[in-house]
Amino acid sequence: MIKRCPQHGFFRGEHCECGSAGQLLLDETKTEQLGRLVAGSLRHFPGDLGLDMDSRGWVDLTKLGQVVTSRHRWAGKELVIALVQSDSKQRYEIADDRVRARYGHSVDVELDHPENKRPLLYYGASEEEADRILEIGIKSASQRYVHLSTTPEKAWHVATFRTGNPRVIQADAAAAQEAGVKMMTVNDDIVISETIPSRFLCILAAKDIAKQESHKNI
Ligand SMILES: [Zn+2]
Repeated sequence: MIKRCPQHGFFRGEHCECGSAGQLLLDETKTEQLGRLVAGSLRHFPGDLGLDMDSRGWVDLTKLGQVVTSRHRWAGKELVIALVQSDSKQRYEIADDRVRARYGHSVDVELDHPENKRPLLYYGASEEEADRILEIGIKSASQRYVHLSTTPEKAWHVATFRTGNPRVIQADAAAAQEAGVKMMTVNDDIVISETIPSRFLCILAAKDIAKQESHKNI
């Protein structure tokens, strides 16, 4: 659900970080409905909804507000803003009455996030996927960019949603970028990248993931 704290603005869940119960704007079901529509609009099929998207992924926020109202009479621009601002994953961003998804596009966009500075990045996969990736590289059939994690633990965690026994692949990001592979920082957790050739990849031993986890716990 999405609520508003009089002091801190929009938030998800029962309470604001300050403890305020806030004012309810959107229940769980409607938050999910609006979230799916906004994701579809900004990541997958803007044209089908009559939205003009520029090459960097931006669409007009007022127009998107009209689109969501046409689908859900209870929704509109203000709720799109609430959805964006309360999203802890920072999926979207707003600037100058325009809005875009920061990652996750299946439509063709050329994003302009800051260049990645981390020398190593990580990708979680099933055992079979990992074997294949080491042969052909990391590429996405359905998305414009591939999504990498900034730590082995995060990559492992992401992959647990798809497989019981994840492998973590380490990418030599510094070398790949030097060779012309574009990698961009989305947030503290995610870096997006163009296809990464297999020569920049290796598999990370399970003990190296555990080791880093135990460092964190100290
Ligand atoms: Zn608050």
